[in-house]
Amino acid sequence: MGRITRRDFVNGTLVAAGASLLPSGCERPADLDELGLSDYPPSLTGLRGSHPGANAHAHALAWANKSDWGTTTELKESYDLVVVGGGISGLSAAYFYQREHGGDKKVLVLDNHDDFGGHAKRNEHTVGGRTLITYGGSQTIVKPKHASRVVQALLEDIGVDTERFDTAYDRVFFERNNLGAVTYFNREVFGEDKVVRHPFCNYPNYIEGMVMGGKLSNEEAARQVPLSKRGREQLLGVLNGGLHLLDVPEGELDDYIDSHAYFDYLKNILGVDDPGVLRMARHSGLDWASTGTDLMSIGTARDCGALGFAPKAVYDEDNPYNCHFPDGNAGVARALVKKLIFDVAEGNNAEELVLSKFDYGELDDPTHAVRIRLNSTVVNVGHGGDPQDSSEVFVDYINNDRSHQVRAKNVVMACYNMMIPHIVSGLPEAQAAALRLQTKSPLQYSTVGMKNWRAMKEMEIGMAMSPGNMHQAVLMDFPVSMGGYEYTRSPDDPCVIQMIGCPYGTVGAPARDQYRDARFRMLSLRFDDYEGEIRSHLGGMLPKELFDFDRDVESITVNRWAHGYTVGGPGDSTKTGRQPFGRITIANCDSAPGADMKTAIDMAFRAVNELV
Ligand SMILES: Cc1cc2nc3c(=O)[nH]c(=O)nc-3n(C[C@H](O)[C@H](O)[C@H](O)COP(=O)(O)OP(=O)(O)OC[C@H]3O[C@@H](n4cnc5c(N)ncnc54)[C@H](O)[C@@H]3O)c2cc1C
Repeated sequence: MGRITRRDFVNGTLVAAGASLLPSGCERPADLDELGLSDYPPSLTGLRGSHPGANAHAHALAWANKSDWGTTTELKESYDLVVVGGGISGLSAAYFYQREHGGDKKVLVLDNHDDFGGHAKRNEHTVGGRTLITYGGSQTIVKPKHASRVVQALLEDIGVDTERFDTAYDRVFFERNNLGAVTYFNREVFGEDKVVRHPFCNYPNYIEGMVMGGKLSNEEAARQVPLSKRGREQLLGVLNGGLHLLDVPEGELDDYIDSHAYFDYLKNILGVDDPGVLRMARHSGLDWASTGTDLMSIGTARDCGALGFAPKAVYDEDNPYNCHFPDGNAGVARALVKKLIFDVAEGNNAEELVLSKFDYGELDDPTHAVRIRLNSTVVNVGHGGDPQDSSEVFVDYINNDRSHQVRAKNVVMACYNMMIPHIVSGLPEAQAAALRLQTKSPLQYSTVGMKNWRAMKEMEIGMAMSPGNMHQAVLMDFPVSMGGYEYTRSPDDPCVIQMIGCPYGTVGAPARDQYRDARFRMLSLRFDDYEGEIRSHLGGMLPKELFDFDRDVESITVNRWAHGYTVGGPGDSTKTGRQPFGRITIANCDSAPGADMKTAIDMAFRAVNELV
């Protein structure tokens, strides 16, 4: 496998001169230079997402109050609009500004990553000479029919046809291949490596067409789980439990379940104290509330289908969970970039862009009205005088460890809202305090390029919930073929396995503390730690005669999102924080709040319309 290649690159033996442009910790596939794709971030494997170095300057600012960035070079660049943050919201802000004010308006988008899209990032794996496309973060356009007219018009204008997914998404792939939802119990936590053909939760229902449990009765499923006899009895008690066991009058049930804790229900009503059962329960909500179920009410646990609540459909026929480009919402980000910078790629609509090679050299070309400057962390944004009647804003950013300054008539801050008080000078104290209260939960999507999926097929695994592992869910990628891209057909063909990790902190600790602890733990790990974890996870789950990690795994990309899903601050703090300030307005899905692509676009529209 590419392991030798990867090791060589990690060790630096094959690092070409141009590799110094890559953030440390990123690996350049061997064939990229030959292909002329050396500046093509989606094909980098290793530590990605918020890749090493991406947040270094922001952390120096936020954690150490750094203000001395050396001599600032004042560039002779002046823009109608500077956008801070090149995610879906920032790109949409650039789009709306041009649409409202004219395509000749000069716009600069600054982002700290080496790729555009924010959370909407594309991963590529080259396996057996074939390029496999997948998503490294933001995954699916959720319920597009519920989108505002603003969002629907934008999607249409950039060439995203959400009805196309009705045929592009192979709804019978899982059924045809008899791939279902199972649970993997690992030796380290549960004492034995074992796959039980039952999901014990509703999470796999998110994958359109996934074959859900049902193969085993509750009794048989509980009997197979590697727990003590007492633990198995308690598990069966939870599976057969239900709200009818609560001694609450019918009319008061809703209030009761919304105000009482799920873990108290498990412990006090169902008598659970077995650590294995509690662990299964804790991890059964995955990313539903950005926390483990230890922080959920009974009502929330029921809604997300946590352990003990029967699987139920997540989306109806009208809103299938299928609006998924092969690269997830990076397909939308790419379509936006194509709209803003025509020469960046060939293709008349989002589908035609799926296989189109983006020329990153076009992103920051001075001849284009819109420029996207990557690897650029904004550290200071300040008005040239009194914010109320100043005519320009100065924007300082760090690129290649050097400080630069550009001028703008207007600025949209489309970055993480909690960073804004560290960046924007002179904000009213109440607004700054409100912005500081906004937060995000950590998430991790690891994508694994596999030479085949024979072992998954033989084990009949479409998705494996994994309550003992760092990645609580392992799944076959979404079966989408479009724009000339073909999803894997036969179990002997290469494929991508997605591994989803929602890191939690100490059981029962407040959510913010859990995010912080989990974030630091996540960032303290090296690529080798993740590789070891993935090796033992897949190796323990799949039979040795069918799966050999060194033989079958070609590449690994670990997308770490230390600042992942938006979690709004308390009370009105989100709205207080997003108020316009002079010539500066605030976008990003944090400013709604809502961890949703549609929200990111709506917030961009609002922010552009609030500009002076
Ligand atoms: C793993 C994951 C999966 C998700 N899945 C889905 C999904 O399936 N569907 C869905 O609708 N939503 C999903 N989301 C939610 C996602 O956050 C939104 O859909 C949307 O992509 C957010 O866009 P944004 O532009 O508001 O923020 P972001 O994507 O976070 O973009 C903000 C950008 O600003 C940059 N930035 C921050 N500070 C600075 C600075 N000082 N200088 C320069 N740049 C800066 C950030 O690094 C980032 O690149 C997912 C999120 C994650 C993390």
